[in-house]
Amino acid sequence: VTQTLPGMLMQSVKTHRRKTALEFFGASVTYRDLWHEIELAAEGLRRRGVGKGDRVAIVLPNCPQHVVAYYAVLRLGAIVVEHNPIYTARELRHQFEDHGAQHAIVWDKVHDTVSDFPADVRPRVIVSVDITAGMPLAKRLALRLPVPKAREARAKLTARPSARRVLTWKTLTGGRRLRRSVPGPGLDDVALLQYTSGTTGTPKGAMLTHRNLRANAMQGEAWVPGLRKGAETFYAVLPLFHAYGMTLCLTFAMSIGAKLVLFPAFDVGLVADAARKSPPTFLPAVPPIYDQLSRAATQGRLDLSSVRFAISGAMSLPVSTVKRWEDASGGLLVEGYGMTETSPVALGNPMGPTRRPGTVGVPFPSTGIRIVDPEDSARDLPAGEPGELLVRGPQVFGGYWQRPEETQEVLLADGWLRTGDIATVSPDGFVTIVDRLKELIITGGFNVSPTEVEQTLESHPDVSAAAVVAVPRGEGGEAVAAAVVLREGAEVDLDGLRDFCRAHLADYKVPRRIVVMDDLPRSLIGKVLRREVRQRITGK
Ligand code: ATP
Ligand code: MG
Repeated sequence: VTQTLPGMLMQSVKTHRRKTALEFFGASVTYRDLWHEIELAAEGLRRRGVGKGDRVAIVLPNCPQHVVAYYAVLRLGAIVVEHNPIYTARELRHQFEDHGAQHAIVWDKVHDTVSDFPADVRPRVIVSVDITAGMPLAKRLALRLPVPKAREARAKLTARPSARRVLTWKTLTGGRRLRRSVPGPGLDDVALLQYTSGTTGTPKGAMLTHRNLRANAMQGEAWVPGLRKGAETFYAVLPLFHAYGMTLCLTFAMSIGAKLVLFPAFDVGLVADAARKSPPTFLPAVPPIYDQLSRAATQGRLDLSSVRFAISGAMSLPVSTVKRWEDASGGLLVEGYGMTETSPVALGNPMGPTRRPGTVGVPFPSTGIRIVDPEDSARDLPAGEPGELLVRGPQVFGGYWQRPEETQEVLLADGWLRTGDIATVSPDGFVTIVDRLKELIITGGFNVSPTEVEQTLESHPDVSAAAVVAVPRGEGGEAVAAAVVLREGAEVDLDGLRDFCRAHLADYKVPRRIVVMDDLPRSLIGKVLRREVRQRITGK
């Protein structure tokens, strides 16, 4: 690794000046113009006090300004802090309290929320971005974005500070360009505070350096054979604020001079529209998105034959999803594995006929793995036995922002990272993720794998999805409980479902309680939030 992220982008700008870098609702920006915009934004931020090591919050859906803001902040040696733009006011405030950024670049729909933060949390400078600026009216109307809950809450307040002076994106970028002499970042400077998804607890800010992120983009390049520099079209349907979309689209795609087509939210209709002008060749996504796209293609609403690389991560990829996608598109769908703390990709299946559905593949180049006893990380387990997965490599982060204890828990002295995931390795080195350590259920001294029980429930013809969690029982004990979503038209028969489980599982694994839900609670990227499932089952 020899380049920082702005250095990497500069290289692409030199090589691919006239190529399209970004496309958004049909409008496109070349690499040269993207760099120009970045320098304008960087100067606007510098004039307003952003310097090396400062944190700058970005609260934006996917849009060109998101990409510009990201690189402008990095160009100044400052640190990007990404946020989910549809978080509630309370969730956003917690995050701002945690990182304390004094500058924020926010979607105009959350501007009021952020400027209403208490004085000790409110950033000094807030830039408001209208992502529809410059879009034709018809497109503006067609843009159905999820409304942030933060905004709804805000609307209920009556006293609206109307006289507030708002700093717009146009004003920020309306000055001169940044002078070259401004010192940029170093390889080991933190580039990003990237919050984890919060699946197992409160989101933690992972500190990722330029070296970490550049390394992961290079590892990606080595992973994908036959990439055509300057000729791939990436679809950013995943949110850029999450580690997965961020690395694949903001760094990897830009490092190979790809065209990045931006979607502010995933929508089959928007994808079909964009595909007519710029057919996708590279698609990083998650299983629910692949299912929706496959269905649309099977119904003739969408042509997926241009996709040469389809990659799934962030959650386990059902073999049925692979089959549907491969039938609908004629291409391969391969699974990888990673976490925010590994920038994020650590393992991946080979991009070819030797990929193995149901596994997350093999370690990325320059990445080492071990399977150890979760109680004693020094003890490696015999081949084939399930244990905690440890990862080591240039993409492994340096620690959590202001959380030394949590950092110490996961980062071992010799550079190994505890993933908190239980995995097995096949004799030829393919890794299967079995469960999360924190989600294992311990009942009457037995370990129950929620995944195994979920798979059993989902194999019942009436069940379309299931989430299995531990609920408290007796004196500090745990019991197995399940939430199920029924298939359309199916009748609720909980006794029948329990008998079905009994026929397929040892008695201690059979859920003591089963509740029916209309939908499972999921994060924006589609992960089942088991904490919320547990709250809904227990009512606490
Ligand atoms: P938090 O750490 O805040 O509880 P999180 O771990 O869900 O949330 P992320 O960093 O976004 O936050 O996700 C990393 C986790 O996602 C991994 O530890 C693993 O449990 C899961 N994961 C990622 N890829 C896969 C995959 N291919 N199959 C199964 N699980 C996966
Ligand atoms: Mg995690």
